[in-house]
Amino acid sequence: MLQIRQNSDEVIREADNLFRDLFPLCRSITGNGVRQSLSILRKITDFNISEVPSRTQCYDWVIPDEWNIIDAYIEDSSGKKIVDFEKNSLHVVNYSIPIDTTISFNDLAEHINALPSLPDAIPYRTTYYKRAWGFCMTHNEYKNLDKNQHYHVVIDSSLKLGSLTYGEYLIRGESEKEILFLTYCCHPSMGNDNLSGLVLWILLLKLLKNQKLHYSYRFIVAPETIGHIAYLSQNEKAMKNAIGGFILSCVAGPDKISYHQTFKGNSIIDKAVLGVLDESKSDYTNYMFDINSGDEKHYSAPFFRIPIGTICKSKFFEYDFYHTSKDDLDFISSERLFETMLTYCRIIEKIEDFNASDFVSVDVVQTRNNDEHYYISLSPHCEPRLGARGLYPNLGGMIKQKLFKNHHYHDQKYKIDNTTYIDGITIDAMRWILFYSDGKTSLERISKITSLSFELIQNATKKLVSANLIRKE
Ligand code: ZN
Repeated sequence: MLQIRQNSDEVIREADNLFRDLFPLCRSITGNGVRQSLSILRKITDFNISEVPSRTQCYDWVIPDEWNIIDAYIEDSSGKKIVDFEKNSLHVVNYSIPIDTTISFNDLAEHINALPSLPDAIPYRTTYYKRAWGFCMTHNEYKNLDKNQHYHVVIDSSLKLGSLTYGEYLIRGESEKEILFLTYCCHPSMGNDNLSGLVLWILLLKLLKNQKLHYSYRFIVAPETIGHIAYLSQNEKAMKNAIGGFILSCVAGPDKISYHQTFKGNSIIDKAVLGVLDESKSDYTNYMFDINSGDEKHYSAPFFRIPIGTICKSKFFEYDFYHTSKDDLDFISSERLFETMLTYCRIIEKIEDFNASDFVSVDVVQTRNNDEHYYISLSPHCEPRLGARGLYPNLGGMIKQKLFKNHHYHDQKYKIDNTTYIDGITIDAMRWILFYSDGKTSLERISKITSLSFELIQNATKKLVSANLIRKE
């Protein structure tokens, strides 16, 4: 059905050109980097663009002011640029406020991020919701800085009323039932996460537009978290037709193909993907649904409960170069992106061929046990803003980054402010509780599903109740 194999050279060439044109752009959750990127994608095939004004309320979240950046650098006392945004957009903490000052090494060190465990990589860091500034550099460069010097730091950025940009296109099939294809456009210069996802998204959209299809396919490209939450809040009704979907993320790395399951594990999406991967007889890794993954947790939140799966080549969290400058154009390839695209084509073919019995839900009916504890989320449409309640770090990019301090995620401590830290296992517990606070899943059951101790679940529940994010049923 999907005539793609014959066009492999053309697809690979198109992907190569897109990689080259899009890689250098400094994307973020708002601003001209996103607009420029989407306009490059629209040259391949057109889709609709929407702008959501700054400060618009979207469920528990608010669209932030728009961020744009012209330049950023650190100069030593001889006037030599030792860190230069022109050379790599990862050098500036994404969403940094403007600054132009001369400071001591000790004061500068407070604003520098480096990764000692990957000393020649620049880490990717963000500060979307806390007005702050910072730089990222390789650990090798950082340790060579002269501690007795003063440094001139400049970030020529702006944070002003503007808007957040997203794109979408609905391919109408015979049926109103929809499959979602989602991706995110907020990451600056990194190849696998998530330039590869963006490129696959547009190539699949172009391919499917020319097919006669039974199901409808909705393509959505938006910044991660706030962009998809904005999309959901503005398109709540449209989501009623969605029977499942995919997030296109990390699709062109060197590792074998892997599948990140939907929260259900047995939805139409899981059946199609696992069916295709099993038939292909090639080796693959099957990952259970992880509450820390991307926008699945919003589309699958209690109000929507749309099952979303992800097929990866070098999955987020799993590769050493994740969220660093070494996730570059050498780390990915158009041939491997094409391989993932072929897999998606087979999956689409399988979904198109499914018959009614494949859609029968095999959900376990949960009977209420009056001895157990049930809670309701007060933000059922999406995961609420934990950072606004002091329950999540304000500096973004290092959650589950394998080489961040080289610790096991659950034991890892993340800084909230100068005196408060939160460990990974508590973040996990809170996220799972919010996800399952649907009045039907007890804390006891959440503990079983997640293999987190009941004591931990109880402690995290207390934090969420005091933050007014859940209430007892
Ligand atoms: Zn990422």
